[in-house]
Amino acid sequence: MSAEPGPGRHVLILGGTTEARRLAAALTGARGVGEAAHPDAHPARDTAPRAVRPAPPGATRVTTSLAGRVAAPVLPPGETRIGGFGGPAGLAAWILAHRVTHLVDATHPFAERMSFNAAEAAALSGVPLLALRRPGWTPEPGDEWTFADSLAGAAGLLPALGSRAFLTTGRMGLHTFAHLTDTWFLVRSVDPPAAPTPPRLEVLLARGPFTLDDERDLLARHRIDVLVTKDSGGSATAPKLTAARETGIPVLVVRRPPVPEGVAEARSMAAALRWLDCAEPA
Ligand code: NAP
Repeated sequence: MSAEPGPGRHVLILGGTTEARRLAAALTGARGVGEAAHPDAHPARDTAPRAVRPAPPGATRVTTSLAGRVAAPVLPPGETRIGGFGGPAGLAAWILAHRVTHLVDATHPFAERMSFNAAEAAALSGVPLLALRRPGWTPEPGDEWTFADSLAGAAGLLPALGSRAFLTTGRMGLHTFAHLTDTWFLVRSVDPPAAPTPPRLEVLLARGPFTLDDERDLLARHRIDVLVTKDSGGSATAPKLTAARETGIPVLVVRRPPVPEGVAEARSMAAALRWLDCAEPA
């Protein structure tokens, strides 16, 4: 059963992902939203937080929240706010002050703290919460994948799998690999990593999306013998995974943290829109 959106529907999207931008676009009727891998980490274009004209009666008001990790994020359609809320209580207070009726956690599958905060804030404020998660990746014939439950787990497994690692898990967790003195690392990130870092390291500053040719070239040029990645997932297999399969090198995959217990989960835009139509507003 689908209910008409109430006159005061206000959806708060916790963003920083393609899914968040696509949901904001779908709810605001905006066009031309790109499909880049991490829109929160893209070059400057329309970067000042903005409040658009209030939605007409009966329309959905959409606010996307970004963490503010990147100096110049591309903003999604609708209203935006940038920066932390000050924990679950701060988020709950924001929800109540801005009359949010629905909360969608569309953060990156590895933004574990924020997902926990969202669950706590939903309980505190009484607002229904949905976790929107892109599907994870699954191995295909020819893939040689080893799974780790955490970055620390991956650091423990890595030396047995290779000695020249292409590390694509982001600059924030790089310190977890800093003690691996025998492994040579190629690290790709948007912004430079901070110390401590592994001693044998080359940093490649680059933004996705990357093509299969890019990835093939990188693996060959740097004689990579193991790829390390988070199971960030997406609608298609990432070119780096295809390149690893073609090259015959193992992939060390860090599993996603689970969605907090009791939180509804959608794996597609259509499912999220259905949930928004059906969930009883706060
Ligand atoms: P995190 O560890 O889960 O969150 C740390 C803190 O950052 C939160 O407690 C919250 O601060 C603030 N925060 C996170 N997401 C926020 C949002 N959408 N709006 C407002 N505040 C937010 O998060 P993270 O792993 O550092 O990721 C930060 C952002 O980058 C996320 O929005 C995520 O979608 C995006 N991102 C993450 C990854 C990844 O691999 N982790 C990759 C691509 C993009 P307060 O407690 O003060 O509210």
